[in-house]
Amino acid sequence: MSEDCIFCKIVKKEIPSEKIYEDEATLAFLNIKPVNLGHALVISKEHFSNIYETPDEVLSAMIKTTKKLSIAIKKAVNADGINIAMNNNLAAGQVIFHSHLHIIPRFSNDGHELWHGKEVYKENEISEVARKISREIN
Ligand code: ZN
Repeated sequence: MSEDCIFCKIVKKEIPSEKIYEDEATLAFLNIKPVNLGHALVISKEHFSNIYETPDEVLSAMIKTTKKLSIAIKKAVNADGINIAMNNNLAAGQVIFHSHLHIIPRFSNDGHELWHGKEVYKENEISEVARKISREIN
């Protein structure tokens, strides 16, 4: 629990939300500033700041809820696709520092784009980066 955390306040019902789902570990509600209509947030009921701090079992519960709701949201708003996103840290666009997944319904002509891949690797650099990552996996 974090005193000033807006999502903890939503869990405690101190702030209203348009709740669409709740179970023991997770809560889901509609984003009040959606990318598209039906854009939902799946949060852990317990406070964790980001993916690094969220225990595996809580993340598992969050992704199960995300799948269940993705199917429901896609049907409900007649979406052509769904993006799942989780922003971790300020540099990645995290605004609320309480673990959450975005379910973003997408429509064929909604005008939104994804990140664009760039050709950033120099010769052999991709293998070097893969080795560095492998060394950090616990
Ligand atoms: Zn919180």
